[in-house]
Amino acid sequence: MAVLEILEFPDPRLRTRAQPVTSVDDDLRKLVDDMFETMYDAPGIGLAATQVNVHKRIIVVDVSENRDEPHAFINPELSLSGEIVETEEGCLSVPGFYEPVTRYEKAFVRALNPAGDAIELALEGMLAICVQHECDHLEGKLFVDYLSNLKRTRIRRKLEKAHRVRA
Ligand code: ZN
Repeated sequence: MAVLEILEFPDPRLRTRAQPVTSVDDDLRKLVDDMFETMYDAPGIGLAATQVNVHKRIIVVDVSENRDEPHAFINPELSLSGEIVETEEGCLSVPGFYEPVTRYEKAFVRALNPAGDAIELALEGMLAICVQHECDHLEGKLFVDYLSNLKRTRIRRKLEKAHRVRA
């Protein structure tokens, strides 16, 4: 397994719309393993393939305290329901920033698992919110898009400055 490089806002590659996975094979399973390793190493609670510059519809999440409830969803389709809830969100592609974002509290996901089986799962709470955040990545969307222009610009400038210092 390998820890992959995570793209950071405002990298334009994060705006790519991911393509559906057409075959679930060993290469894809290796990518999923690497995505889990990258997410746990960061550490984060979710990661979309987009964030590691692979523009395929794959997300991994684990919102458990003990980091032992991994979920991988390939070609996820969401149906959203329930109340609108606000939580502080962060993102491995927007390191160091946490801002309130509103999402649905429940999500029903249909996807393939890494074995290639069709699965359906009812999600709620943090898991539902995290999956909505990761599915946004597959559309080239980031949580900062929900913020005001002013806030988004401030975050972009700070990260650009940080990238210059690191370069
Ligand atoms: Zn994210």
